[in-house]
Amino acid sequence: MNTQLAMSRRGFLAGTAATAGLIVLHPFSAHAQANQAHLRIMETTDIHVNVLPYDYYADKPNETMGLSRTASLIKAVRDEATNSMLVDNGDFVQGSPMGDYIAYERGMKEGDVHPVIKAMNTLSYDCSTLGNHEFNYGLSFMDKVLAGANYPFVCANLIRGTELAANPRDDKLYLKPYLILDRTIKDGAGAEHPIKVGIIGFVPPQIMVWDSKNLSGNVATRDIVQAAEAWVPQMKEEGADIVIALSHSGIDTKKTEMMENASFFLAGVDGIDAIFTGHQHLVFPGPKDFQDMEGVDTKKGTLQGKQAVMGGFWGSHMGLIDLLLERDGNTWKVVSGTSEARPIFKREDKIVATVADDPKVVQAVETEHKATLDYVRRPVGKTSAPLYSYFALVADDPSVQIVSQAQIWYIKDLLKETQWKDLPVLSAAAPFKSGGRNGADYYTDVPAGDIAIRNVADLYLYPNTVRALEVTGAQVKEWLEMSAGIFRQVEPGKADQPLINTDFPSYNFDVIDGVTYKIDLSQPPKYGAKGEVLNASSNRIKDLMFEGKPIDPAAKFVVASNNYRAGGGGNFPEINESKVIFEAPDTNRDVIVRYIVDQGTINPSADANWSFASMPDTSVLFETGPKAKDFIGDVKAVKIEPAGEGEGGFAKYRITL
Ligand code: MN
Ligand code: MG
Repeated sequence: MNTQLAMSRRGFLAGTAATAGLIVLHPFSAHAQANQAHLRIMETTDIHVNVLPYDYYADKPNETMGLSRTASLIKAVRDEATNSMLVDNGDFVQGSPMGDYIAYERGMKEGDVHPVIKAMNTLSYDCSTLGNHEFNYGLSFMDKVLAGANYPFVCANLIRGTELAANPRDDKLYLKPYLILDRTIKDGAGAEHPIKVGIIGFVPPQIMVWDSKNLSGNVATRDIVQAAEAWVPQMKEEGADIVIALSHSGIDTKKTEMMENASFFLAGVDGIDAIFTGHQHLVFPGPKDFQDMEGVDTKKGTLQGKQAVMGGFWGSHMGLIDLLLERDGNTWKVVSGTSEARPIFKREDKIVATVADDPKVVQAVETEHKATLDYVRRPVGKTSAPLYSYFALVADDPSVQIVSQAQIWYIKDLLKETQWKDLPVLSAAAPFKSGGRNGADYYTDVPAGDIAIRNVADLYLYPNTVRALEVTGAQVKEWLEMSAGIFRQVEPGKADQPLINTDFPSYNFDVIDGVTYKIDLSQPPKYGAKGEVLNASSNRIKDLMFEGKPIDPAAKFVVASNNYRAGGGGNFPEINESKVIFEAPDTNRDVIVRYIVDQGTINPSADANWSFASMPDTSVLFETGPKAKDFIGDVKAVKIEPAGEGEGGFAKYRITL
């Protein structure tokens, strides 16, 4: 990496103390005495190659993301601050089609500068650490990316080779564990003083599992807190006046070995003055995330009393920690501080941008932006059958099938060297685009043939991440009973009864692949739309089989799903964090893209693993998009026929049960 440039850079004197904007935002800054100084440290985190406010999956602008917007917040602070620094907290190299384009198509030749680094190089970062996603494309790719940066990287718990030393200070580290930056700071009276700012970085140790293909045999990781306890005292010995941690790790107050989200316990390490966090893609401080956790102050922005911040993700926020420092003999100590996560947008009736693009950042990636647009619009694979969701609520469906195929492919591979390797892997997936209030055009519809990355947004609407849960056969059945709540009760022998309970969102209609079952609509729903028990003794799920035999209620299964469901989203019976055995770092749609690239040609034909139980002389009506007529011949599991026009452009169909 190019430490030369970083070392020769200016101190962080910028702007003048006379700029009053700062005083309005941060009242304490007005009170710096002659022996005191303010230091404003800004963070970007989890940028994931989202340089511009553009969602390449959807192929349209998106005001909630983009480093070019965060850059304008950074500029504004720099212009008003007497003393400021800028750090990045990792996960910059992967996570958007621009990153995939560089990794899978253009490549990184020796001397190439990665577009996210080109963009970041315009912002004068002081330091960065590595996130877990830096390893996704392999170590040599990462090395080439880091080499293009005009700022340094630190990571104290990534070890070269496979051996951890008896004493962490003897670890052969991949990067420098920390840096001590010599800077000049201006005090409240305008006098300049030297200050040594120590910066140490950490990556989640779980990279060894998530990227074992790239990493095992090459590197190893150490517990974050253990590494900090070893290195922070050395930083103090070397004269660091203050120590800030770049922790690509989230906030969790339950201590475990090799913690993934260790920032709370990092705050407990003596000598660390402030912690920049990330990885969880959440916001801290603030009224939404991390509420009611002991030792976590979501108003003051402190963890165990130390200032901390988490700046969202994809450039959604700039993290800002303001420290009031005081001269203490010949060193500096922190006397007070504030934290803030400053967003680039606000929510009114719709999402509104609150800052403009920084033209330098936009310019830096102009070429790669165009190339990425071309990349997402160009085929990356083929589908041997059309992908549509017109019948997703009434029959097993290709748009849901493909998501489950990709999830099973991904989770089986990740669990193959774990204690769960012998458990059957099922997959839960729900139709996201299925008409409803969004209108008669709101369906997935990708024709057979070439498939482009932009089509994947159509298959998987939300940026969820993959989770694997361990559940019993009995819990699989209840999971499906909950899903079946989307259907109204149907009276045997009656014609043209309405089928769908429109209060039940389609994204909670999980189809579970890997088992077969029938849904008996003559029974009342067991659960309501909010997970409440409506009819405790009702059983709509019939003939639930695994490998052709009735499912054993005590048997154990792994179910691939997403962070929403695994976090209790939809209130599915007993489905919550306690069942999670694997939190994948990847989004479901990235997994789908990888699956398509890996397979070349996908076959999303539904396997008809579920259907309605037959009811003689009974029919139901449901509404779908008018384009459904093109695919009606494909739907084998139900007897379906057109039944005229519905309201709002929808088409009616009759299903004979
Ligand atoms: Mn991330
Ligand atoms: Mg299926």
